[in-house]
Parts: sequence; structure tokens; C-alpha cells
Amino acid sequence: MTARILVVDDIPANVKLLEARLLAEYFDVLTADDGYKALAICDSTHVDLILLDIMMPGIDGFEVCERLKANPRTAHIPVVMVTALDQPSDRVRGLKAGADDFLTKPVNDLQLISRVKSLVRLKTLSDELRIRADTASNIGLEDMLKGADGRDEMAQVLLVDGRASSQERIIKALKPVAGVIAMSDPQAALFEAAENPVDLVIVNANFDEYDPLRLCSQLRSLERTRFLPLLLVTEMGADDLIVRALDLGVNDYIVRPIDPNELVARVLTQIKRKRYNDRLRMSMRQTIELAVTDGLTGLNNRRYLDNHLKVLFNRAAARSRPLSVCITDIDRFKSVNDAYGHDAGDEVLKEFAARVRSTVRGADLACRYGGEEFVVVMPDTDSMSAAVIAERLRSIIESQPFHLKTAGIMLNITASLGIACNAHGAETPEQLMKQADRALYEAKNGGRNRVVAAAA
Ligand code: GH3
Ligand code: MG
Ligand code: MG
Repeated sequence: MTARILVVDDIPANVKLLEARLLAEYFDVLTADDGYKALAICDSTHVDLILLDIMMPGIDGFEVCERLKANPRTAHIPVVMVTALDQPSDRVRGLKAGADDFLTKPVNDLQLISRVKSLVRLKTLSDELRIRADTASNIGLEDMLKGADGRDEMAQVLLVDGRASSQERIIKALKPVAGVIAMSDPQAALFEAAENPVDLVIVNANFDEYDPLRLCSQLRSLERTRFLPLLLVTEMGADDLIVRALDLGVNDYIVRPIDPNELVARVLTQIKRKRYNDRLRMSMRQTIELAVTDGLTGLNNRRYLDNHLKVLFNRAAARSRPLSVCITDIDRFKSVNDAYGHDAGDEVLKEFAARVRSTVRGADLACRYGGEEFVVVMPDTDSMSAAVIAERLRSIIESQPFHLKTAGIMLNITASLGIACNAHGAETPEQLMKQADRALYEAKNGGRNRVVAAAA
């Protein structure tokens, strides 16, 4: 993992020390000896993470952190505050300033490298999601990214801890920031995490006969818990365990005896990132859905059909199964627009789509192909069955007049349908569509309001 780390400290010896350790891990290192220089560097170049001293002449680390977090260009860069061991209140202030993590001086090698690696890994993920979200906002979806920041509901933490006394202490420490469900059975906890909304799992490595990393790895491999942040509680000196845990994808760890302020800080950091990433992932999903959905009718659009028909066609060919397509075109639709206006035409299209959707089976794929043309792809359907389904669709359009609310009228609508089946020579999805289209053309020529099957 290569990343660019900015080390900010006014004492040259401190800078040199951190720089040497990071360089040994092949990180790219930039340095600054005061807050202003640090801000300038972050503003002008790409930085993946900042190690920030607190006591500095000019502006101190808290203020540097606040300014970084207030600037949209730099707000996403993780900040690790380097605090003096005897100043626990500094951690709380750092947290308030928006710091993502803490290291205490003198900085322990394992802590330095593991925290840096885990934050850089998280940032890489967020960066990727952010790029995708930018695309979403370019096409007008930025509202979806506006999180409920500040209004977020209380976080839910699942605590897996073998001892009642330590459960109590952790619940008490987290009380102001999170609801905690405590469990002492790791297997039950796995189910709890998979089935209920949980924002963070804390695993205390204090079990007598259970390897806590087993639960961590199970949580990482389950689809539903893959993105859940994991915080491990270990005892002093359990460096091997920590290294293995971080390799498994555990996001952070805290060493006993637990400092309640540090626990709160680490918990809030993980939850903040999870919520941010959840929002991005959600917006991503919505972007994809919008890209393949027709806005007016909610059916899949032509882009989706073109891609998915290929998949269905090839699968049917590989399994020697029949596959049929039906193209439906509303008759004399232009006259609806001409007589009652475009909005009335849209109403017809929506109602038409609803009838198509209610007629086809679950495995069928219904799409709006364009204007007033709809396509239904029917896997495992031969030409006889396709004709029955198409006839049912034709009749469901004709038999019930369409209610146009804006114009306040009932309108009779009919449609013409062309069907084609892969059993009749089509070698590609395009050929199959062409056959159905030709059949539709015949239906129109033959007087409309009818179904025509492509010639065998
Ligand atoms: P035919 O029976 O031969 O299919 O006649 P038609 O009038 O249905 O066919 P034509 O292709 O001449 O006209 C289609 C009309 O559909 C023209 C276009 O304005 C209208 N149309 C296409 N998309 C929309 C839409 O999204 N909303 C509305 N209201 N009308 C649309
Ligand atoms: Mg038409
Ligand atoms: Mg048409």
C-alpha cells in the first residue's frame, strides 16, 4: 500500500523520527514544521493522511484540524493527532476538532504503522465512492448524498465480551454516544450482527476458550456484515494478535485498561465513516437504478434491455431452452397527444406500463423500448405460449378504457403486438428483435389491435 503522508511537527527531531519509520514502510512522506505550511500543502497537493502535532507556534494542531475539516477540498483527509500521554483531555478536544485518530507520544511503531495503514485503507475506499458520487451529483443526484449529519439517529453498537464487569464499563463509557447490545456468546453475536441494524461491533479479546479473531473473520466474510466496522479490545502487549486482526480487516483496536475518552473517540470515528460510506454506496445504487430505469413508467429502459436480452438469449441458447420476445406498440398514439395533449399521452403510457407489468410473469422482463413501444422478454417460453401471453396483453389493453384524470375522460386504447421465438432461426438477439419488429409491422398493416407471430 503506498500513500502520501504529511507529518506536521515543529520539532525537527520528531519529524525525522516519524519520517524514517514511514519511509521504512515505503510510504511517501511530506513534512511541515508549522500549521500554515501544513494547510498550504494540503490545499495544493494530494495528501492521503496527516500526522498532526498539537503544540505548535502560530496555529496549533486543533485549529489546523478544524480548518482542514471545514474545507471541502481537505475534509476527507484523515487526521491523526499526536498527543502527549499525560493529556487525555487533548484527545477529547482533538475529537471535537474532527480528528480521526490519536497516537500518543512516544509513538509506538506498531500503533503508528497499523493505524496509518487502516486509515489509508478506509480513505482509499471512501475516495473511490466519492468519485462515483461526484458522477452522481453531476447528473443531479446530490440530494441523495446530503446525509442526516447531526440528525443521525443514535448509533447501535454490538459488544461481544466474555466478562460482565467489562461489559458494564464499556456500556457506561459509550452511553452518551451509542446504544449498546452486549453479548457473551460469539455465535449468537454473529447472528445478531447479520440480522439487525448495527453500526459497529466491538470484540473484546477476553474470552477464555474462544479465539476472538474467528468472529472477526466470520463477520468479514458474511455478505451482510462485510462493511461493518470492527473494533478489537486487547490487552497490553498483544502485538501479534493486533497485527493478525488488522490483516483480517479489523478496523481499529484499543488496549486495556480502556480510557473512556479514547473509546468514545474511536467508536465515533468508525461510525462516522460507516455512515458516510453507507450513504455513498446507497447513492451509487440509486445512480445505477436510474441509469437503467425509464423515468416515466418505472419500467426498465432500452439500455437495460439491450444488455440483458443478450444475457438471456445466450443462456437460452446454451441450455437449448426457448425464449420469446414481444414488441408492443400503441395504436394511433399520436392522435391521443394531438387531441388531449402531451400530459394525457403520458398518463396513457403510465397506465399502459402498469397493465404490461401486471400481465407478465415474474421471470419476464418488461421494458419501455422507446416512445410508445414496449418490449417483453419471456425466458423459457415457446412461440405458442408467447402468443397466449401476447393475446392476454392485447385484450387487457382493449377491454378496459383508460381513465385520463387530467382530461377527465375515459379513452379506448388498443395496441399491436409482434412476437418472435428463438426456435425459428434467429442467431443473435438483434435478429430476434428484428423478426418481432417485422411481425409488429404486419400487425399494423393488417389493421392494428392484433398479435402477429414471426413466420417459422
Ligand atoms: P401507429 O398505430 O402506426 O403506431 O401510430 P402512432 O401514432 O402510435 O405512431 P407514431 O410513431 O406516428 O407516433 C408515436 C407518437 O408517440 C409520436 C410521439 O409524439 C408520441 N410519443 C413518443 N414518446 C412519448 C412520450 O413520452 N409521451 C407522449 N405523450 N407521447 C410520446
Ligand atoms: Mg404507435
Ligand atoms: Mg411507434
